Amino acid sequence: MIESPLLRTNAYIGGEWLEAENGKRFEVVNPLDNTVIATVADLSESETKIAIEKAASAFEIWKGYSASKRSRILKNWYQLQMEHARELARILTIEQGKPLGEAIGEIRYGASFVEWFAEEAKRIYGDVIPGHSSDKRITVIKQPIGVVGAITPWNFPSAMITRKVAPALAAGCTVVIKPSELTPLSALALAELAHQAGIPSGVLNVIPTTQASQVGIELCNNPMVKKISFTGSTKVGKLLLRQSADTVKKVTLELGGNAPFIVFEDADIDKAVEGLIQTKFRNAGQTCICSNRVFVHQSILTEFSTKLKEAIATLQIGNGLDKGVHIGPMIEQKAIDKVDALIQDAIDKGAELELGASVSEDHPSIYMPTLLSKVSPDMDIFSNEIFGPVIPLISFDSEHEVIQSANATPYGLAAYFYGRDYARIWRVAEGLEFGMVGINTGMISTTLAPFGGVKESGFGREGSKYGIEEYVSLKYMCWGNVN
Ligand code: ADP
Repeated sequence: MIESPLLRTNAYIGGEWLEAENGKRFEVVNPLDNTVIATVADLSESETKIAIEKAASAFEIWKGYSASKRSRILKNWYQLQMEHARELARILTIEQGKPLGEAIGEIRYGASFVEWFAEEAKRIYGDVIPGHSSDKRITVIKQPIGVVGAITPWNFPSAMITRKVAPALAAGCTVVIKPSELTPLSALALAELAHQAGIPSGVLNVIPTTQASQVGIELCNNPMVKKISFTGSTKVGKLLLRQSADTVKKVTLELGGNAPFIVFEDADIDKAVEGLIQTKFRNAGQTCICSNRVFVHQSILTEFSTKLKEAIATLQIGNGLDKGVHIGPMIEQKAIDKVDALIQDAIDKGAELELGASVSEDHPSIYMPTLLSKVSPDMDIFSNEIFGPVIPLISFDSEHEVIQSANATPYGLAAYFYGRDYARIWRVAEGLEFGMVGINTGMISTTLAPFGGVKESGFGREGSKYGIEEYVSLKYMCWGNVN
């Protein structure tokens, strides 16, 4: 069992810590060794309904606070997250597995959304538009949309919450959060700090549950919820979009990816290798913007692959709490089985195994960094999101061909490429059908930029000046008889 001053194991509804009505609880395990670290209240749709009602009552008060007052309270929350960064990160590593250094990075990244949107709360500007006749005036204001249902994944159990909740609260909305059943402790720790920060009762609510679909149906069907914000798989995203149709909710979806990583012949190969290691092995390859298909120009393939193998050899695997570890466990056995199946299919169809393709002898939950060469589009690994520490190498000859191959996927979240020719950089950046493009960098996530995808990777943007738009609606006022 985990001990922590920030450990909370009941639901947080209307400012109170509550058990499930039927007393049910579920176990949360450490993915490294499957030991039980806590048991958490397992709520259902009836308590979700209550949480929505609390959020709806709180909305009437919270939306009336001045922007400065909401901003001050959000800044308190930010400060507390920064003060407790190490403890939040420890909880995160124990329930999710990522190395502690990465977990601290996630906590700071997550907190940065709270700081940013605390400022943006004061900049939700409207507009004045010249009237359509001499006695008319037009004004536009932005108003908070109402109660928000936020459904979040296990791979960033802290930052995916703050990235939704911070703009929602800044705009004057209230939220009901359903965290992943695999990682509820990070969400509940954030709720504890929200409580300490003075976020009023009912403004932020957390529903831990193993009954994701029932709780999801309640959030989508309940007419008091005006907006669904979801990060997770494309399959569940499509379901939530369909479920939200009957009550015509505003929806933001951040779904799966199949990121290409392209290395042109004029690229700085050392920097490209460094960037690939950063994008591929973060969180053991379990992020939606991890490079999924690595296209390398045939003229530099041998050099690139040699340097890549050398870089992979330096990666340390192990317990995320230990110093110097780069790769921790996969989230669950199912994830390992999926990666194994993708690798086997690729090998059966002609790919060559250069490194890895097995679990660690010491820790069967850790997948060894893996390199496959001679990968081609007919292999499942080309079209599926791998979500594991596997690099498939694909060689290419021409710019036109590689852009077509990169775009040959229903996904459109992140893409990366390395090269120096500035005209080509523009052509390729414009030609890639993805919401985010890293040019000579593998690190693109920042509070300051709009995160989000196109095609089946979803819609809506999180972070930046655009992020707040997801949580407001426009109201146009037509002033007549101005004589
Ligand atoms: P992953 O495959 O990465 O776990 P999921 O889309 O299954 O992605 O999970 C992301 C979030 O969606 C989690 O909080 C999970 O509990 C939730 N979820 C899964 N199925 C449903 C559903 N039918 N309705 C609502 N939420 C769901």
